[in-house]
Amino acid sequence: SEQRLRSAQLYEEALQHIVGGVNSPSRSFKAVGGGAPVFMDRAEGAYFYDVDGNQYIDYLAAYGPIITGHAHPHITEAIVAAASKGTLFGTPTELEIKLAKMLKQAIPSMDKVRFVNSGTEAVMTTIRVARAYTGRNKIIKFAGCYHGHSDLVLVAAGSGPSTLGIPDSAGIPTSIAHEVITVPYNDVPALEEALQAWGAETAAVMIEPIVGNFGMVMPHPGYLEAVCKLARQAGALVIYDEVISGFRFHYGSTQTYAAFPDHAAIEPDLTALGKIIGGGLPIGAYGGRKEIMEKVAPLGPAYQAGTMAGNPASISAGIACLEVLQTPGIYEEMERLASKLKHGLLEAAKRNGIALTINQIRGSLSTHFCDHEVTNYEQAQDTDGELFGRFFKGMLAEGINLAPSKYEAWFLTIAHTEADIDRTIEAAHKVMKSL
Ligand code: PMP
Repeated sequence: SEQRLRSAQLYEEALQHIVGGVNSPSRSFKAVGGGAPVFMDRAEGAYFYDVDGNQYIDYLAAYGPIITGHAHPHITEAIVAAASKGTLFGTPTELEIKLAKMLKQAIPSMDKVRFVNSGTEAVMTTIRVARAYTGRNKIIKFAGCYHGHSDLVLVAAGSGPSTLGIPDSAGIPTSIAHEVITVPYNDVPALEEALQAWGAETAAVMIEPIVGNFGMVMPHPGYLEAVCKLARQAGALVIYDEVISGFRFHYGSTQTYAAFPDHAAIEPDLTALGKIIGGGLPIGAYGGRKEIMEKVAPLGPAYQAGTMAGNPASISAGIACLEVLQTPGIYEEMERLASKLKHGLLEAAKRNGIALTINQIRGSLSTHFCDHEVTNYEQAQDTDGELFGRFFKGMLAEGINLAPSKYEAWFLTIAHTEADIDRTIEAAHKVMKSL
């Protein structure tokens, strides 16, 4: 539209130099009917300002990391202080110990930690470590869960729970896809069947314990206990990908969240983290039981390294972000506002005869334009993508920024206010009426 003229111009220019005009495919508007993505100029708190001077209430939160709101002063100060002392040393620094201790204290299943640069790297390495520890090669994962873009986890389900995977991306050899089995989430018998067929060869069962990638989806009561028990009976490790769920719902992760009373029964062997723990700068981390982590170089034979790993700016931003998240009551307040938003959106949908299911977990929610519950990927796929695309663009025109994907969550931050929620609900009424 003419109100986003500069964005349209920049997109044309970007297309000539950057593949697809974007540095991550999720930023393109391909899944919402095409067009130029909005080029942002700056952000503060809950708001984005684009290159044409438009303001937006942001629910993308950069796909999760920005839980404190954009440009939080405590984090910005920490980054400036770190940068002014030197951005990269290639030597150990004291602050790395501090962040490692903070993570361990919040997530006690991690005896030892290693910092990397992204969630992708963290997950990729947990798989290598699990293979090194068990001497096995296969992994079992769950349909619709996203674990970054490394070969093994970009493999889709075969035609049944006990069939081997097929590559989800060009450039992944079939031989690698054959090391992966994908089963439906929230389905104990399917996991049992896969473990019966492949359990003796399985190094790890890799799961988003609370799902953030086909909507926000909670495990059924007892499901995580069953996953841990079945994996261990087969001699496989359990890996939790908490790249999204880490510090998202409380100060800790799924394995320590109060919704799961018997924490010991759902503790994984290895955990992958990212996003929030870097306070908006690049980071990833993985950790787990001491005897497993000691397989990692320089102590053990599993190699993993990184020029940028543990860089002072990322580590300082992460510490500052976690410090902010220790403020009492903030998760409860995000939950309260998200709940208000959920009810407002449902009301708007109802008034306009639109089928809408919303999954809300504390300050995060996912909107599914379908008429049934969403507890697994198959159900999530019923979300009407064409309708979502029009909703997305309508909301954008009203100054509400969502992720351009029908599966992606809306993330509240501690910067969102009651007035922001009211404005969003008002916009949703207007947009849904026009659909
Ligand atoms: N795991 C999960 C659960 C994720 O949601 C993501 C990113 N959306 C990743 C891993 C990959 O993280 P990154 O993009 O930092 O590589």
